[in-house]
Amino acid sequence: MVKYQPVIGLEIHVELNTKSKMFCSCPNDPDERHPNVNICPICLGHPGVLPVINEEAVKKVIKTGLALNCKIPEYSKFDRKNYFYPDLPKGYQISQYDTPLCEDGFLMINGRKIRVKRVHLEEDTGRLIHEKDYSLVDFNRAGIPLMELVTEPDLRSVKEARKFAEEFQLILRYLGVSNADMEKGQLRVEANVSLQATSDKRQVTRELGTKVEIKNLNSFRALVRALNYEIERQEKILKAGKKVIQETRGWNEIRGATLSQREKEEAHDYRYFPEPDLPPLRFTKEEIEKIRAEIPELPQQRRKRLKKEYKLKNLETEFFVQNKDLGEYFEKVVSEFEPGLSHEKLLKLIKLASNYLITDLQGLLKGASVSGEDFLITPENFSEFVILIAEEKISSKIAKITLEGMFKTGADPSHIIEEKELSLMIDEVEIEKIVKEVISKNQKAVLDFKKGKENALQFLIGQVMTATRGRANPKIVSKILHKVLRKL
Ligand SMILES: [Zn+2]
Repeated sequence: MVKYQPVIGLEIHVELNTKSKMFCSCPNDPDERHPNVNICPICLGHPGVLPVINEEAVKKVIKTGLALNCKIPEYSKFDRKNYFYPDLPKGYQISQYDTPLCEDGFLMINGRKIRVKRVHLEEDTGRLIHEKDYSLVDFNRAGIPLMELVTEPDLRSVKEARKFAEEFQLILRYLGVSNADMEKGQLRVEANVSLQATSDKRQVTRELGTKVEIKNLNSFRALVRALNYEIERQEKILKAGKKVIQETRGWNEIRGATLSQREKEEAHDYRYFPEPDLPPLRFTKEEIEKIRAEIPELPQQRRKRLKKEYKLKNLETEFFVQNKDLGEYFEKVVSEFEPGLSHEKLLKLIKLASNYLITDLQGLLKGASVSGEDFLITPENFSEFVILIAEEKISSKIAKITLEGMFKTGADPSHIIEEKELSLMIDEVEIEKIVKEVISKNQKAVLDFKKGKENALQFLIGQVMTATRGRANPKIVSKILHKVLRKL
């Protein structure tokens, strides 16, 4: 039986979040709703204009390349990629052909090295809006700096391809070079896939399959669905003894299928030549090292550190790595705990802090960020809140109310507890009084308890908790209830 192994490569385009466009001073504003306002003779390709290289964009590409372990050649230049399309007013795109800014990098995905062939810089095209029987074009996007990453065909499963794209997106956000929002088209993925026949002896045959490119992938979900569809389609063709055609196919979300768009064009079809209006770029080692020094801690390093430093589980670690702001907030909260604590106590506090941040605080935030101006809880107050829970000064129910109060007003937790009279009742005489009242009002439950129904006791505890507005210590309530019921 012949089996087929998918061989997948990715091409990912990223809109950089620079202030201005790639070769002119027009604003780079992806949120601009009004069409054709961020335009000028340069990004419209009028004759006689001269482009100027955006230094910030170049630095952001190099930073990304360095984060992906790429080599940065000392020399780089821009080239013209010639083709005609209505969204490309110049009739050519300024891109990079044989001298990309970054090359020969890699990214580790679940212990496997995925090679990055190159990362280069180009300009985005305009946006076409297709109406029923005509099309409109908006040039606000034309000339926005666009970074392109190309991997080697090293990915061996759909899952791995998705993981690579997601990890790359996270790195872009850590680096602060792009918001990388797929819905807004700031991150666009294209995949190429072929199937390689493998024998039963797990020996991969040398022969490479014919590569098909898939475009129009607007989400990670689309990437997964399109790859699965394409792998199945190619497998059917090969099993029927036919040949896969080298072509570009577009993912059609509604039909859930890839559809043939055109047969693959070759590089020479674009008649690339060096851009005569732009000087080549040269970098010194010092310049590169300066950019490298600006690279913050990256997701993979952070994963390792969080696990080691705070003894977090995989899920918690991943949560704080993916939600970068909350992860940083978590670390600030932990740093507020007293340095003199025993290791065991500190771990308990860390665990509590992590739980309350991931569950309760997340629920209150409803998608908002802890780095936003509206977020009022200081790390100091949050750590105090965690300590109150750890020392059993407030029950989990009161903790909820307290956290809500902190979230709304930014007040410190002890202030809220005092103001709302929420502090835990530990006076046993006082609790016994309430227990007796509850018993006299719930004779049926008392009888049930005497008949041996355990949930009758739970019911009575619940009644006492309601009567004390959750302020009674449930352990003490249970103890007193037992004592009083035994005497009856
Ligand atoms: Zn412009």
